[in-house]
Amino acid sequence: MAKYDVVIIGAGPYGLSAAAHLQTIRRLQIRVFGEPMSFWEHQMPKGMLLRSPYAASHLSDPARVLSLDAYQAANGNHLSRPIPIDRFIDYGRWFQRQTVPETDPRKITCVERTAGEFRLAVEDGEEVRARRVVVAAGIGPFANIPAQFRHLPDPLVFHASRRNDLSAFPGKKFAVIGAGQSALESAALLHEGGAEVEVLVRGPRVHWLTRSSRLHKLGPVSRLLYAPTDVGPAGVSRIVAVPNLVRYLPRFLQNDFRIRSTGPRGAIWLVPRLQSVPITVDRTATSATAVGDRVRLQLDDGSQRLVDHVLLGTGYRIDISRYSFLSRELLSSIRCDNGFPALDRNFEASVPGLHFLGAPAGWSFGPLMYFVAGADFATHTLGRYVARTGKTGATVRVP
Ligand SMILES: Cc1cc2nc3c(=O)[nH]c(=O)nc-3n(C[C@H](O)[C@H](O)[C@H](O)COP(=O)(O)OP(=O)(O)OC[C@H]3O[C@@H](n4cnc5c(N)ncnc54)[C@H](O)[C@@H]3O)c2cc1C
Repeated sequence: MAKYDVVIIGAGPYGLSAAAHLQTIRRLQIRVFGEPMSFWEHQMPKGMLLRSPYAASHLSDPARVLSLDAYQAANGNHLSRPIPIDRFIDYGRWFQRQTVPETDPRKITCVERTAGEFRLAVEDGEEVRARRVVVAAGIGPFANIPAQFRHLPDPLVFHASRRNDLSAFPGKKFAVIGAGQSALESAALLHEGGAEVEVLVRGPRVHWLTRSSRLHKLGPVSRLLYAPTDVGPAGVSRIVAVPNLVRYLPRFLQNDFRIRSTGPRGAIWLVPRLQSVPITVDRTATSATAVGDRVRLQLDDGSQRLVDHVLLGTGYRIDISRYSFLSRELLSSIRCDNGFPALDRNFEASVPGLHFLGAPAGWSFGPLMYFVAGADFATHTLGRYVARTGKTGATVRVP
């Protein structure tokens, strides 16, 4: 059975950045599992544009040289802004080839801890051992399906993460539920693909990033209000850009900043694309019923909609018990708060040697962890820690 010092589960922005940092540590044996950038390719819509700005969309390597600029220079072509998703996926794979070309695309199906080490099962039955495991498996399993839709099968109802080609529905009638970037951009792409779309929004309005867009054009004042990572509203952005500060804020402030920085918002450049798409606010679907191959939605104002499909842009709820690869025993020994693992300053869970990166680290390190921009802080921190503890995997516990 192969044995590694560190196994990384996931080859998205966080897993690849972690690998780039760890593989520079002398004699450290690492292995990365997961298909590079697969969530971006299969679970986000083709034609999507990144909401995060260019400066906040670099993956991280120790020397900070494998940036989007370096990718453009190496490929001799220009990246438009906002960044198109296919170019970002290509950047991620270019980054992977420069740093960890031997990434193993297979899925990990089980992680257990026995006798002070981890045993991992790979999808084809192979087993490997590791002193340390870094979970960078993303948000795929956390798709939030509201209760009133759970009994209806796909394709009548599906979460936005279940389709990557929204041009495949010309002439079909859609209700899109939600008011975040994913719901709104999905609605735009469906509409542009020839579908008839109505967006149903629970709140009283859609929060377009109009004010934020104006505040970003004030030169030095903008730089005072927004950190280069550009996560969160004016002012808050500067605070959440320092995860080691966020960690020590009172919990109510941490929660407030997380909610305000990750709540439903629509990029300003979506406004013209949704000009002829009806957006109905203050409306909740109280029930959904299959009627032949269509869905009848009962809304809370007494009206109904009969549609071919319901697309749920209803976001994600972090809950690591939905990572099916964590064994029941391992899961029961991870201290959690609201579905998030409680992490120490080295992104280590209450189980020594087990680390979580990306959105699951958001409870401990704030909203930056939900975005690519957080990978630099997270993986520099992890890299320094693993370099300090070395091949032994010995854990220096810091509260
Ligand atoms: C529609 C949408 C748009 C977004 N737009 C932006 C944006 O513009 N900018 C931004 O910063 N963020 C954006 N995000 C958030 C984005 O998801 C995260 O920033 C980013 O994906 C985090 O990277 P990650 O490495 O944690 O996760 P992912 O990119 O999801 O990578 C996780 C990887 O782990 C692999 N994996 C999972 N389970 C296993 C397993 N058992 N074995 C092996 N491998 C496994 C997956 O295949 C995947 O490749 C968006 C999210 C959505 C849903």
